[in-house]
Parts: sequence; C-alpha cells; structure tokens
Amino acid sequence: MSNKTASPPVVMVIGGMDPSGGAGLCADIQTLSMLGCHAAPVVTAVTVQDTSAVKGYDLVDPEVIRAQMQAVMEDISPSVIKTGMLVNKEVILGLVEVLLNYPHISLVVDPVMSSNMNDALSEHSLISSIKEDLLPVASLVTPNIPEAIALAAKGDVETADACAAVISNANSNCDCLITGTHADSEQVINRYYRQGKKSKEWCWPRLPYEYHGSGCTLASACAAGLALGLDMEEAVDQAQQHVMKSLSAAFKPGKGQHIPYRLNTNLAVEII
Ligand code: PLP
Repeated sequence: MSNKTASPPVVMVIGGMDPSGGAGLCADIQTLSMLGCHAAPVVTAVTVQDTSAVKGYDLVDPEVIRAQMQAVMEDISPSVIKTGMLVNKEVILGLVEVLLNYPHISLVVDPVMSSNMNDALSEHSLISSIKEDLLPVASLVTPNIPEAIALAAKGDVETADACAAVISNANSNCDCLITGTHADSEQVINRYYRQGKKSKEWCWPRLPYEYHGSGCTLASACAAGLALGLDMEEAVDQAQQHVMKSLSAAFKPGKGQHIPYRLNTNLAVEII
C-alpha cells in the first residue's frame, strides 16, 4: 500500500508578517489551509503592529524576496499567486521578472497600500507600479473603494463603476472585485467587473466591528477557489461567503480590532 497522499493545490502568497496574527501572511495561510490548499508564503516585510495600529515595518531585501519566489517556483510550481503587502516598485519588478517564466500562473492582487487603521504599509512608488507593472499580468484585483480610487488615479473618479472602467480598460485580462466595506451604505455592496460582460453585485449585511485582515482573507479565498479549479466568478462568489462566515465568527483577542475566525466556516451566513 502506498503512503503517498495527493498534494493539495499550492498557492504562493507574497506579503507581510503581522505579529498580531490578524492580517498578512497569517491570514493567507489560515484561509488557504481552511479551503483545502497549501500556502507557500514569501515574506516581503516584517511589520510591528498590534490589533490597534501599525508601529512600523522593515522591508526584506528585495533580492531575498525574489530569491524566495524563485526557490519555490523551481521546486513546487504553484498554480496561483496571491499578493498582499508589496511595499514598492522594486519588489513588484522582482515578482514580474519571476512570473514572466511562468505565464500559466494566475495572479490575484490585493493592492495593500495601508492598514485599515490607515497606517502606511507602502512607499510612494507602489501605486503606479501596481498599475503599470502588476495589473497587466494579473487575473484579478480586489481593491476596496479608496484603493480603487488610487488605482484609477483620476480626481473625478469616485464611484466603483467609474474606477472599474478605468482599471479594466487599461488591463483587459484583469477582472476587478471592488469591495464596499469603506462605503457609507447600510449594506456592504461588493461589485465584480469583467471586460465585455455585465458587472455583478453582492449585498452583505454590514457587521458591527472593524476587522483586521478581512481584505487578505478575501483575496486569499479567491486564490484558493482558482487553485481548486473554480472559474473566476465562482471563486469570487465562494470567497465572499468564506469571508462573511469568518467575520461572523470574529473574535477580539486584544484592545483593538476584531480578527476574523477563518478556521470554522460551518456557521450560517444570511445572504441579503
Ligand atoms: N498585510 C499586512 C502585513 C498588514 O499588516 C495589513 C494590515 O495591517 C494588511 C495586509 C491589510 O489588511 P486588511 O486585510 O485588513 O486590509
């Protein structure tokens, strides 16, 4: 009898370490493991933060970041890559250089610019490099509305529809899921855009707390769906359900934000 166990799909997650365990690579690893994938984590930055604030971060040497990616690529060859905290253009160019040799890999981009407590997690060069270098090779980008506005980079562009039009006109192969967590609406409205097709909308109950790592959870769950063979729309759909279940079961381990409980998704979610 063979002792071999079939390997789960592998997703490379590229982002920062958050010692509170709420966001970044911890969120990615929990989400991917829960959804049946193996996470291969590439560390870009070591952050100093708790559940209330980011106090600082140290960027890993971009050459070491690139070498981490290359080592995993040559050995395991993930089918999907999900990015979070990339910090600056140099890190992005290293990733793009590695990716050019693996054009079959789907790339899911969570355009992390700052924490949701508004503390900076990036340098000035990040936004233009996401637009110019990363989105042209991405399959999905998952901004919240402030991030979408920054990516659309036009003073008069404020609605999700207008931002998505700018982003997808520039990147016809990159779908766009804009989350409504930062909007004033009573419900959270997430909108999904694909070039040449009608956009799709999901409405979710607005939950009572601030959550640390919800964006990371969403993008990783999208990556998991793709790695498991779902098409993009199915992946986006199941990812939101996973996030809502994780947020419904969130806990408050410290003095600040709640952390999604990503390891038990058997809780019911009411879809409005
Ligand atoms: N990645 C890291 C390392 C972080 O520290 C944070 C927020 O603090 C994020 C990503 C983004 O977190 P969220 O999913 O709450 O937007």
